[in-house]
Amino acid sequence: MKYISTRGQAAPQAFCDILLGGLAPDGGLYLPEHYPQISPAELAEWRELPYPALALKIFLKFIDDIPACDLKSIVDRTYTARNYRYCRPGHDAAEITPLTTLDPGFHLLELSNGPTLAFKDMAMQLLGNLFEYVLEKRNETINILGATSGDTGSAAEYAMRGKKGVRVFMLSPHGKMSPFQRAQMYSLQDENIINIAIRGMFDDCQDIVKNVANDAAFKARYKIGAVNSINWARVLAQIVYYFKGYFAATQSNDEKVAFSVPSGNFGNICAGHIARMMGLPIERLVLATNENDVLDEFFRTGRYRPRDSAETYVTSSPSMDISKASNFERFVFDLVGRDPAVVRELWAKVAAGEGFDLSATPYFARLPEFRFVSGKSTHVDRLATIRDVWQRHRVMIDPHTADAVKVAREQMGVGVPTPIIVLETAQPVKFAETIQEALGVQPTRPKELEGIENLPQRVIVLDADAQAVKALIEKVCAPAINR
Ligand SMILES: *Cc1c(COP(=O)(O)O)cnc(C)c1O
Repeated sequence: MKYISTRGQAAPQAFCDILLGGLAPDGGLYLPEHYPQISPAELAEWRELPYPALALKIFLKFIDDIPACDLKSIVDRTYTARNYRYCRPGHDAAEITPLTTLDPGFHLLELSNGPTLAFKDMAMQLLGNLFEYVLEKRNETINILGATSGDTGSAAEYAMRGKKGVRVFMLSPHGKMSPFQRAQMYSLQDENIINIAIRGMFDDCQDIVKNVANDAAFKARYKIGAVNSINWARVLAQIVYYFKGYFAATQSNDEKVAFSVPSGNFGNICAGHIARMMGLPIERLVLATNENDVLDEFFRTGRYRPRDSAETYVTSSPSMDISKASNFERFVFDLVGRDPAVVRELWAKVAAGEGFDLSATPYFARLPEFRFVSGKSTHVDRLATIRDVWQRHRVMIDPHTADAVKVAREQMGVGVPTPIIVLETAQPVKFAETIQEALGVQPTRPKELEGIENLPQRVIVLDADAQAVKALIEKVCAPAINR
């Protein structure tokens, strides 16, 4: 299996060659040259498999440059009950992504039982083990530089901590994260994890990362890498739980389901799109946004109008406060019949700050074939949904999951069939303020994580200055380079 760029001007690559990188050299995103098709016989066999075995079957369709026995050992180490132990009482952690049924035909798929209590762990944990494996094979090292407003940074750090050949420099806005999120990241004492609090906002952190990445000499000298959501292996890892969720919510492979996905960068739902393209019987993909509704607008109107950061709302589902969906290009590549010339033309408009409008094109007429519907949710909706699910089911959900529940219910009212599976992307404890506002109580948290705010923290505070960050990277890396 080779990987091709959505912009069509980069050489096809094998899986391990795109694993450590981000964008293709032509500025596009990598996708497999074709989507493997799953036969009815395979689907029947897969229904019975535990999570790691299912993951291996799926990964083997996409990865042909890691021996199957090595891949098996990576997958078995990644998807363990111990690693996903923060599940709801009464659930079996070995399920990895257990299903919670709210009403008949209306389910939550728990994706947030990993070490940082958000669904990003599902992919990042795999990435950590894959990176370590490939770097060791190639006798290479990497310095991951990232910016986070919360979930991504902690997921990356827990995935990479203690990994050989990997160092993480993670920028976060000083004083802007919740005390719980701060504690999660800054209490890590691993030598290869370097937390940097920037005196500024998330955008300042993001700008510094871009600034460093644009310095080609520095980037090469210090082997700077990224783990952002455009990484193909992250999308790949997320395909697995669509299969797992489908099997958990149905009795036979003749049934069809809908998934409802709280969306920001279009990574999670992109994996659902690919699962459907592989032949998983998904009748509808319900895309839910918050007040930042760029994607909802596209699926309703055919217009894609990325906003700049000044037009991005700060909401109570902050991991979806995104106004340029970085994985969206992958879907559009499929929508335009995988014609890279069309993608290049559209993204030239995006780069010029214009966005694009497909409403009068044949592509928009084809959109229904892809089975997407969409809707948006607001702070008031979020609070009402958290309250309703708590009062009727005694199940506490986080604000992002609430957005997807709200839109799923709305879509059921206009004909989206059941069963419908809502992807639960974080645990409520990460967003205690909103839970308090909705329910008047503090969210419950796993026993092991009680009091983490009191642990000693390790963080370096710097001004919003790329030079200062570069100097720090040089200083930390210096001994290794001089040796
Ligand atoms: C990242 C994140 C999302 C959005 O997922 P995308 O793949 O960016 O669409 C939703 N909910 C939570 C809790 C997240 O951390």
